[in-house]
Amino acid sequence: MSDKLYKGWEIVIGLEVHAQISSKSKLFSRSPANFGADPNTNVSLYDAALPGQLPVLNNFCIEQAVKTGIAIDGTINKISVFDRKNYFYPDLPSGYQISQLYHPIVTNGKIVIEEEFGEKTINIERIHIEQDAGKSIHDLSPNETYIDLNRSGVPLMEIVSQPDMRSSSEAMQYVKKLRMILRYVGTCDCNMEKGNIRFDANVSIHKPGTPFGTRTEIKNINSIKFLGFAIDYEVERQVSLLEIGGKVVQETRLFDPNTGETKSMRSKEDAADYRYFPDPDLKPITLTDEFIKRIRNNMPELPDAKKKRFIDIYALNIYDANILIEDIDVANKFEEAVNASRFASTNSPKLIANWMISEVFAVLNKEGKSINELDFPIIYIAEMVDLIIDGTISGKIAKTVLNEMFTTKRKPADIVQDMGLSQISDETIIREVVEKVLKNNQEKVKEYKSGKDKLFGFFVGVTMKELAGKGNPEKINKIIKEVLGY
Ligand code: ADP
Ligand code: MG
Repeated sequence: MSDKLYKGWEIVIGLEVHAQISSKSKLFSRSPANFGADPNTNVSLYDAALPGQLPVLNNFCIEQAVKTGIAIDGTINKISVFDRKNYFYPDLPSGYQISQLYHPIVTNGKIVIEEEFGEKTINIERIHIEQDAGKSIHDLSPNETYIDLNRSGVPLMEIVSQPDMRSSSEAMQYVKKLRMILRYVGTCDCNMEKGNIRFDANVSIHKPGTPFGTRTEIKNINSIKFLGFAIDYEVERQVSLLEIGGKVVQETRLFDPNTGETKSMRSKEDAADYRYFPDPDLKPITLTDEFIKRIRNNMPELPDAKKKRFIDIYALNIYDANILIEDIDVANKFEEAVNASRFASTNSPKLIANWMISEVFAVLNKEGKSINELDFPIIYIAEMVDLIIDGTISGKIAKTVLNEMFTTKRKPADIVQDMGLSQISDETIIREVVEKVLKNNQEKVKEYKSGKDKLFGFFVGVTMKELAGKGNPEKINKIIKEVLGY
């Protein structure tokens, strides 16, 4: 293993990721689970924990968790159990959170991340299903705290990794890959602004070859960038502490994005403090083999498989494949274009990838748009590339065509026709022009023949100018060579 040390210390990180399950309604009630509703409007009597209300399990959420478990190559447990985690907090009206401690729905998965020196497997301990709590709002009034129960009962998956990461960058890679997988299978939208995905980072340091050190847990981090900052700060804090002979206290900390620091929140509770016990209102979840098999047979293609296929079938390099698969919508658009190309089985995929990555993305980035907001149908890129391959236009002219596509949203072939952009490939015409150019520049031809190679470009340039920029560059090159006699 190529585990790097930091000031002589090995960093150990384990992540708990809370991912909101893409479900229209809550885990145990029929209230909507959408973001942005007015406070306390998505709240049923059950969500407010009025006495006598019973949970009714939302089976869709179970299916989503199983799908996620299969996507991370985990073991799907045919029996899993909901436990009550008891604690008091004003935004938790029932006094307990329903979670799965002893028998989670998924155990033992893994995610492969790309590292400087190759690939690394991060093991996943478990995925369990749980409900979210409400929200306390402290900053609306100087002397009152408000409670919004809209999130109370929103379905979450908690995905718990083993302590397998050794740097903040590995932790960030892991979270990015996990997010990619969740989006591919569609079980979590992973929208950071909506709080769809949150991270708890467990961080410790130790000297290699000795047992792991005491960890602190930084809770509720809501961006990948902050995850990196929080870990780096925490590592530095622990190193400074241990190097002056101090001790790390096991505790829960919070990251403050304004100061870039982590601050102590409370000393860490143990599982025993929560008085976990199986929820008497809920039966264990039992899954049949057929149910699991049906989901397994309907899994979409996952990022790693898609990447391999793009490299094998479309002859893309790893760099291009990585960019195209990162966002499932981009990957789908790319394939839609490839499928529309007349040259899909030869050289168009690579060209379509190039044009998308360099030119199309540049415009989208500049305008802050996603691939789904592209001004023209993606198959126009395939049509444009086909015009390059069949010799109708040159790559240079294609840029003009593409700009036109962005402004007028018209088909490339129509643009070429209307603007008279067709390339001149007729060899007789090109030969006539070349002969004229060389005749008018006999001095330069002499210099060229006596060794001034650079003048070849001059002949190409003048010929192209004579052809109003529309000459086929390959043919111009070929014919100049022929006329010059080699
Ligand atoms: P809890 O629910 O109390 O936080 P868990 O046992 O579920 O405790 O562990 C939570 C996370 O802490 C896991 O992701 C695990 O990988 C990580 N972890 C455990 N020990 C260490 C350690 N010494 N350093 C860093 N992370 C650790
Ligand atoms: Mg924890």
